[in-house]
Amino acid sequence: MNMNQMPPLPSLPARRNILTVLGASMAAGLCACTNVTPPAAKADAASATAFSEPPPPTSPMPLQAATPATVRFTPSPTPTKKARKHYVPDVGLPPVENGLAPVITRILTKHPIVFLTIDDGGTKTAEMVALMAEYDYPVSIFLARAFIQDNPGFFTQFAAQGSLIENHTISHNLNMVQLNYAQQLAEITTMQTYVKDQYGRLPTLFRPPGGAYSNLMRKAVADAGLKAIITWEAKANAGQMDYQVGNSLRPGDIVLMHFRPEFAADLSAFRQAQLAAGLEVVLLEDFLGVE
Ligand SMILES: [Zn+2]
Repeated sequence: MNMNQMPPLPSLPARRNILTVLGASMAAGLCACTNVTPPAAKADAASATAFSEPPPPTSPMPLQAATPATVRFTPSPTPTKKARKHYVPDVGLPPVENGLAPVITRILTKHPIVFLTIDDGGTKTAEMVALMAEYDYPVSIFLARAFIQDNPGFFTQFAAQGSLIENHTISHNLNMVQLNYAQQLAEITTMQTYVKDQYGRLPTLFRPPGGAYSNLMRKAVADAGLKAIITWEAKANAGQMDYQVGNSLRPGDIVLMHFRPEFAADLSAFRQAQLAAGLEVVLLEDFLGVE
């Protein structure tokens, strides 16, 4: 009899320990996703900001002197952050196998959740900070040093929503898969140190520039101590949603965005899709237990 077929289950409530391990099949069928446009897109979508906030409440009706015992109006609601629901992970992080980091393009969860990731860091505006605070989205932020070294402190402003900074290499070389192992490892480990120095936390997730990866890269990612390569199946781009599968967001989708001039239009497109699909934005690291 095989006495060892089931590992002992960790006790609750350490949610990062109750993850179900997926097989490597999760990484199958991935798209190389190399068609990421350069970060220096022109600002032609600035007018596409389509957020429609409800108008501020009008002044309450004055109390009527004839009915002193009756309050004739209700106080205007105080805007508060919506409490975030906690979702117990029903899908776990695939393990490093044969020295290769897993590649995750979507989380096959049954929960009504979606994961937002924002890359590069080339454009930095106060509007971005305000929008992310308004929607209170926790985001995995994949930064490349080449894009952010003029102002790395800008990205600390997203911590209020629980966002985390992750590794998108030093130089954002779109031909990274053609580099040798030592070169790829240096791109990753140097960025690990940079992020730790700037933001006080070592990244746990890696996104290749342009999305293309190889087994050599998977080995370098694992050797650098990172937990997974994160790709995507949907993206908010040029003010609209692009789907590799279907025409709407699905539970567990990982959505790609960029810090670009058209950020507001992209975020608007994402928000409309997210609300239409009835999904809540959850931090990927939190769900995978790799904070
Ligand atoms: Zn990028």
